[in-house]
Amino acid sequence: MAKYRICSIEGDGIGHEVIPATRRLLDAAGFSAEYVDAEAGYEYYLDHGTSVPQATYDAVENTDATLFGAATSPTGEKPPGFSGAIRHLRQKYGLYANVRPTKTRPVPGAYENVDLVIVRENTQGLYVEQERRYGDVAIADTVITGEASLRIGKYAAELAMKRGKRLTVVHKANVLPVTQGLFLNTILDHTRSVEGLNTSTMIVDNAAMQLVRNPRQFDVMVMTNMFGDILSDLAAGLVGGLGIAASGNVGDKFGIFESVHGSAPDIAGQGVSNPTATMLAAVLMLDELGDHETARRIDNAVNKVLTEGPRTRDLGGTAGTKEFTDAVIAAL
Ligand code: ATP
Repeated sequence: MAKYRICSIEGDGIGHEVIPATRRLLDAAGFSAEYVDAEAGYEYYLDHGTSVPQATYDAVENTDATLFGAATSPTGEKPPGFSGAIRHLRQKYGLYANVRPTKTRPVPGAYENVDLVIVRENTQGLYVEQERRYGDVAIADTVITGEASLRIGKYAAELAMKRGKRLTVVHKANVLPVTQGLFLNTILDHTRSVEGLNTSTMIVDNAAMQLVRNPRQFDVMVMTNMFGDILSDLAAGLVGGLGIAASGNVGDKFGIFESVHGSAPDIAGQGVSNPTATMLAAVLMLDELGDHETARRIDNAVNKVLTEGPRTRDLGGTAGTKEFTDAVIAAL
């Protein structure tokens, strides 16, 4: 009998390529799993009028972890009844921490020796999606609670204590003292009691510049939802781009692991997408499940192929999804 049950959601666009590639790799690495296939995303919404069906909730709730491919966020006015699948799942399951490791990988143009983690509050801020319009005036609410700030602050502090014991709280409390101030002060109140943790604060615009100028100064960074969304993409750009950036959405009970990139409609269906980000999301999932041995073997195999090739097009190579995956499997 398989040791783990994994919910597998391809979602939209290149999700249909990167998930099968990652599952082939997990199988080849001997990861003992039974998969429960589930659906979610914009394509599902267009066919069925909802982006996440009940069967998917059941699958998420009755498995040990979920591996997610990609979901399209349509631009412009939201279609009626539509809510982004992954944002919806994050909220429903209280996946309050979005954890995005940013580590130098052997790819062209990457900064050297970067090893930091961005911890993004995943349920509040501007992404509560409460917008309205009165004629020429458009308003978006931002929601911050002390409870959610403490929860994410504790998570980030614990993570920092397992790593380099340095935590940077990123904020904009100088302009938004009520909302950002609550986030900042709640976390600082907590970290004062964490012995051995070196906590500093940084205003978000400075953090963007410091990330570009000297990303090696950072260990764990914690911030509200939208700042985390933007800075984690910036950080991904420092170490090789979206094709290799992975993230975990973690709560007290459930975890959903996914790439940082979207559904890449411009290349979907061509078999040229880079599955590395999803493979590294699977590594995060394995670590969370406690299968560290398989996690390290996959991580090393991915690094070997990124070093020696073949590389996918987004990293300057010519390999398609299948050729790259075959090479990683061979490197295991
Ligand atoms: P969405 O609406 O799903 O967010 P998007 O195109 O706005 O889609 P991404 O899917 O993140 O955003 O893609 C941004 C760019 O990066 C695109 O040009 C896409 O082709 C490229 N890209 C993203 N992921 C990959 C990948 N895994 N392999 C190769 N290229 C990728």
